[in-house]
Amino acid sequence: MPKFLAFSPALVKEFTHFMGHVKLHIPGPVEVSEKTFRAFCTPMIGHRGQGFKDLYAKIQPQLQQLLSTKQLVYISTSSAWGMMEGALRNLVARKVLNCMCGAFSDKWFDVSKRCGKDAEALQVPWGSPIRAADVDKKLATGQFDALTVIHNETSTGVMSPIVEIAALKKKYPDVMFIVDSVSSMSGVPLKFDELGIDVLLAGTQKAFALPPGTAIFVCSPAALAKAATMKDRGYYFDLVEFQKNAEQNMTPSTPSIGHVFALESKLQDIFAEGLEARYARHRRTNQMTRDWAAKHGFTLFPEKGFESITLTCVSNGARPGGRVVDVPKLQKLVKDQGFLIDGGYGKIKGTTFRISNMGDETEATMGQLFAAMDTAMKGL
Ligand SMILES: *Cc1c(COP(=O)(O)O)cnc(C)c1O
Repeated sequence: MPKFLAFSPALVKEFTHFMGHVKLHIPGPVEVSEKTFRAFCTPMIGHRGQGFKDLYAKIQPQLQQLLSTKQLVYISTSSAWGMMEGALRNLVARKVLNCMCGAFSDKWFDVSKRCGKDAEALQVPWGSPIRAADVDKKLATGQFDALTVIHNETSTGVMSPIVEIAALKKKYPDVMFIVDSVSSMSGVPLKFDELGIDVLLAGTQKAFALPPGTAIFVCSPAALAKAATMKDRGYYFDLVEFQKNAEQNMTPSTPSIGHVFALESKLQDIFAEGLEARYARHRRTNQMTRDWAAKHGFTLFPEKGFESITLTCVSNGARPGGRVVDVPKLQKLVKDQGFLIDGGYGKIKGTTFRISNMGDETEATMGQLFAAMDTAMKGL
């Protein structure tokens, strides 16, 4: 550890503050470890210097392994929405199909229109997944040259069957498949080249458990070729610029360099644990959450068989049957014990609540949360 980190009174104060904070179990941003924060605070370097190039070159193969891709993986200094909007601006020439099943995926339709794109909604009820057969029917009309789909709809806790949906790409090679995996990337396997999709993106503050402010994404050669033909795709999110710069181990503009240091540290953690072990840990901690809900008489909000593995959306009256409690009171009683859980998002606020098991959570840390939640339930 560099000396200044060990001895600076300011940092001692910072970490004391860190110890006493309310721990995040909301589905993003999630809890950031001390190790990650230390990496984030590495002294600054220039983004065109050899130090940065070496750093990016070092993490590139790990990012490629994580996403099972031969393509270069890019780093964008923006929240996920930056790249979500960027993907539309780079890839939609005719009309985009926005697959909608919750707050984030619904919003993508609005964003498409705000970008001046011709867009159509494929809306299913909140709690349901996007099904490949419905997507197929829409694409068969031949109207679309792009679609957006969210793998893990964070607002409803629904994981859509991405392998089935991605399999349609073979039938519609000219349609750009844009996939948001903001709250699933690194928590569940996502094999980019095998899926055959065109864009896969995530923000760092969800399953990666880094601070918010950076997006990680990858594009197919077809997406890069299409982007090159697009007028008015802008500069900041120009996919062609990302590729050109990544070939030199750089980003188009000055990135949040702290995030790249933090990502280097996180990738060390990820590969020390092993990908399969990481995925298995998420499955176990997620099962613990479902068990906690069942133990207290709650049902889950998602349609059976499509529940997320990185977070749990518990029904609190949104579905018939199951227990109903005062969610703000539950949140307060849990918060008083040092943990923040979410009280539901958008139109299902209060009739659901959500618990995240993303990032570094283990059976031990989830156990601490559930002990606090058990105590809170007694106080309701
Ligand atoms: C959090 C989230 C977003 C938005 O991410 P920002 O970082 O706020 O831009 C988009 N999609 C999904 C599925 C999310 O969970």
